[in-house]
Amino acid sequence: MLSVIYDKKEKLKLSETSLPKINEDEALVKVDVCGVCGSDLVKIKNSLVPEGTVLGHEIVGTIIEVGSQIKKWTPSQKVVVAHHVPCLNCYFCKSSNFSMCSQFKSTNITPGGFSEYIKLSKAHLEQTVFLVPKSTVSDHEVALTEPLACCLRAVQRTGVTSSNSVLICGLGSIGIMLGKLCIEKGAYTFGTDLLKERIDFAKEMLAIHDGYPANSQEMKSWILNKTDGRGADIIFLASGSEKSLLTSLSYVRSGGKVVVFSSIPKEEGFFNNEIYYRELTIMGSYSPSPLALKEAYQMIITEKIKLKKIITDIVSLKELPKEINKCFGNKSVKMIVET
Ligand SMILES: [Zn+2]
Ligand SMILES: [Zn+2]
Repeated sequence: MLSVIYDKKEKLKLSETSLPKINEDEALVKVDVCGVCGSDLVKIKNSLVPEGTVLGHEIVGTIIEVGSQIKKWTPSQKVVVAHHVPCLNCYFCKSSNFSMCSQFKSTNITPGGFSEYIKLSKAHLEQTVFLVPKSTVSDHEVALTEPLACCLRAVQRTGVTSSNSVLICGLGSIGIMLGKLCIEKGAYTFGTDLLKERIDFAKEMLAIHDGYPANSQEMKSWILNKTDGRGADIIFLASGSEKSLLTSLSYVRSGGKVVVFSSIPKEEGFFNNEIYYRELTIMGSYSPSPLALKEAYQMIITEKIKLKKIITDIVSLKELPKEINKCFGNKSVKMIVET
């Protein structure tokens, strides 16, 4: 079968790989579409995975074959799949820190979504695989289940309400999803990005009420003006910029929350006294719970949230090694690979 593998020199490269063999409690799935995630880009850019790794985890596919022990699933069913599976029994799972569970961290899809076929383990089939009904919503949109679930869980953990003001820093696909979810909660939602066209696009997508360029000197006075001089109640950092945590401290109100939602190449240190004297809450959120996956999936298939327009690029598996450069150049909001 064909896969796109990570290669140090070429970044991504098309390669012939062997078809996964399934055990009695596993299933073989033909990948139909797979989203390109910001975390895939970080791994490629910073060489965080071994050569030959197949990335891609935002998958919609069709079951081809199931092992003899699998009763719940049958061939030809269309499914949406998430890659990490929490055990639900450990201390972390019971404390709702699912992404800290050791099973969560060790489970993954074999080989990965940038491939013609994948196999799913028993744990995946039980918890992080959902049947996709025939509907007007495309596979491409359903593939946004996992990133939307990451955003949904982060928004829920902040406890955002209609009396809050929210600032989203970074208006890529994740920033847009976060914004739409906060607006749905009734919060007054602002956005900032280095690229003006992304601010305009986020407004058009109804993901922010208003926006301002990130590198502008007046950004701070703009956000203070919008929030009666206090600063935003909640800030989501979704830009991947090294300076975003530091600058967010001048945009957040005292007693407010900053949610770190992306990794950065280099740590810039932390800000003890600002956090202490201004009683700030700085929290991280990076992966979904099975419950958030289910909820995100329902929102997409019932069209409670409409995300079709954020899919700016649909490419074939063969084109992916070349087309991925569009993502690195910030020329694509969301790229979906068809296999
Ligand atoms: Zn993802
Ligand atoms: Zn666990």
